[in-house]
Amino acid sequence: MRKITMVKKLLASGEPCAKCVQAQELLERRGLWDRIDEVVWAKEGDASSPGAQLAERYQVELAPFFVITDPGQPDRVLTSTLKLVQELGAAAGSAGNGAAAGPPPELSEAELREAQAQLASAPPAEILSWALRRYGARCGIAFSGAEDVVLIDLAARSGLPYSVFCLDTGRLHEETYRFLDRVRAFYGVELQIMTPQPEPLQALVRKKGLFSFFEDGHGECCGIRKVEPLKRALAPLYAWASGQRRDQSPTRTDVAVLELDKSFSGAGGKLLKLNPLAAWTSAQVWEYIRREKVPYNSLHDHGFISIGCQPCTRPIRPGEHERAARWWWEDATQRECGLHVKKA
Ligand code: SF4
Repeated sequence: MRKITMVKKLLASGEPCAKCVQAQELLERRGLWDRIDEVVWAKEGDASSPGAQLAERYQVELAPFFVITDPGQPDRVLTSTLKLVQELGAAAGSAGNGAAAGPPPELSEAELREAQAQLASAPPAEILSWALRRYGARCGIAFSGAEDVVLIDLAARSGLPYSVFCLDTGRLHEETYRFLDRVRAFYGVELQIMTPQPEPLQALVRKKGLFSFFEDGHGECCGIRKVEPLKRALAPLYAWASGQRRDQSPTRTDVAVLELDKSFSGAGGKLLKLNPLAAWTSAQVWEYIRREKVPYNSLHDHGFISIGCQPCTRPIRPGEHERAARWWWEDATQRECGLHVKKA
């Protein structure tokens, strides 16, 4: 039977090394800690400690590291916790964006209505878990680099397969790019980064320049940089989850917890859309982020609430609604980018 040994370093002070603590936390967040069969300590300055002996035997210089023994196979050593997470996740069918085995059974109208009733006032973790149990990594979490990181945290804690995609418009703040990378490392999750198709983007920029949205509205630019990449991201999925909330703007007051997405289609033609945070307020989201020590975009510390592309986002002023931060030069009822269009 396969055995995984984790070698951790104990400092001379008696404390475990910080990297080893972080590695264990990552495995716990991903629900993989119980896959570690044995923990062995390498004591600082003690070459005879069991961990130091393993380090010597496998010629490894840094802790933590993992020794994987499979009967009849040579031992393998992994020095990257992320690699271990990916390997264990792949074996469990939860490797980032990996496809689930075969299509899931189709959800009938009656089943959808039943699920809608059951989940209408359920906690976000339960709503998301319902979709992940049914669709696994074929339920994609749309991560925009803002507070919707809560969804990734809930998915990681569920121990269920999940996948995450992001729309990289090419116009995000540097802070957002750094945040995406931090989330990738923190959760050991593969982010599927979707970028715009070059031809239409080049044609737009050639014809109208880089700031045409200030002149004739954001629709055309968002269509190329966001909506088309979103369509490609959704095409192989059966469901997707977004961080939309009803309290975000006048355009989102009727956001449903679970609905059939009539604007986009997925792998089976039909596509389900989940908004597990629909009933949460901004205060609840932030209470969760602080309580669970979830990473967040550093722009939030500088007055930014709703974060999108750099040219089209600004910090908000006291008393302003959070979506006032986006496309502020346009009418408040038009401030959606086409990702969450509702069709009757
Ligand atoms: S938010 Fe602004 S820069 Fe980003 S895609 Fe839309 S119009 Fe273009």
